[in-house]
This record gives sequence, structure tokens and C-alpha cells, in this order.
Amino acid sequence: MPLICKQPECDYTRKHGLIAEMSTQFCPDCGRRLELVPANEVKIAQSVSRGRRVGAYLIDFGIALILEAIASAFGTVAALLLALFWLFRDINGASPGKAALDLVVQNRAGGPSTANQRIVRNLPFAIGALPLVVPVLGTAVAYPIQLFLLFVETVLVLSTGERLGDRFAGTRVGRRTSAPQYFTAGAS
Ligand SMILES: [Zn+2]
Repeated sequence: MPLICKQPECDYTRKHGLIAEMSTQFCPDCGRRLELVPANEVKIAQSVSRGRRVGAYLIDFGIALILEAIASAFGTVAALLLALFWLFRDINGASPGKAALDLVVQNRAGGPSTANQRIVRNLPFAIGALPLVVPVLGTAVAYPIQLFLLFVETVLVLSTGERLGDRFAGTRVGRRTSAPQYFTAGAS
């Protein structure tokens, strides 16, 4: 029987696969004692192609651009709406773009994420929108910040599959249709 790490925040099993050596007792990443699980009960969360993630992001970005155009013209209220859109876009588990492309926000191990995690992962984008609350002057501050964040997050997603927000919140993006856990029903 293979050994696995059951620590919910740990993604050792997803990244490195099952641990076969019986001499290993503790997870190399988080230090938790490993547990024996029958091989047929183990499912490793499916990883998502980066193109699919970027595609989902572009859909959300398109929605944000419309709000941003309104915010630039009408100021404070629309700017707050834009910041709130970014902050809460994943609140139901998937943003509009993710839902369209069958993606969902999960915890690192591939299990369900918490509402708190789904908000925290979007803080960088919400912060980038906040300067627009100040008319005219805000645009001059917000656009460079947003461009910088967009650049950093895109490079991180394409190179590591994990952007800054995912690191802060301990989240990953997975397929909604794939098994969300390492275990099938009945195993624990
Ligand atoms: Zn671990």
C-alpha cells in the first residue's frame, strides 16, 4: 500500500506522487506522519493547463475592463464596484471566467477551498483597483499598479502555475469535474 500525506494544506502528494518507500515515516514537506492507503482509493487531483487558466482570467479581465471604463468616467461608486468584483469574483467557488471553462478554486491538496481563501487570493487585484476611487488622479496611480500586477501574476501563472494570490491564500485552481480529493467516497 502507498503512503500519503493527509495534511489538508500540504500538496506534497499532488506534486510528487505517492510515497512508495516504507522507510519514510513523515512528509518531506510538512512533517506530518504519513498514512497507509490502499492504492485503489487514491486519486491525485488533476492539474490544469496554463492556457485554460489564462483564458479564464481573460474573461474576468474583460468584465473588469468594462467596469474600469465606467469607473474612469464616473468615479468613486463604479471604482468600488470594480474592487468588489475582483475581491468576490471567486466567492461561489469559481469566477465567471473559471465557471465558463470548468475550473474551480481548491485548497493546495485539491480539496474544497474556504470563502476566506477565495477572497484573500484576489486581494492583489482588488488593491490595484482601489486608487480609481479618487477621480482623474486615481487613474494615473491605478493603471501602472494594475499593469505591474498583471505582468507579475501572468509570469507566475505561466512559469509556476501559482500566482501571488494563490501563495497568500494557499489555493490552487483545479478542474471542477475532476475528483476534488485524494480519496473516493468511503475512504477516510
Ligand atoms: Zn505533507
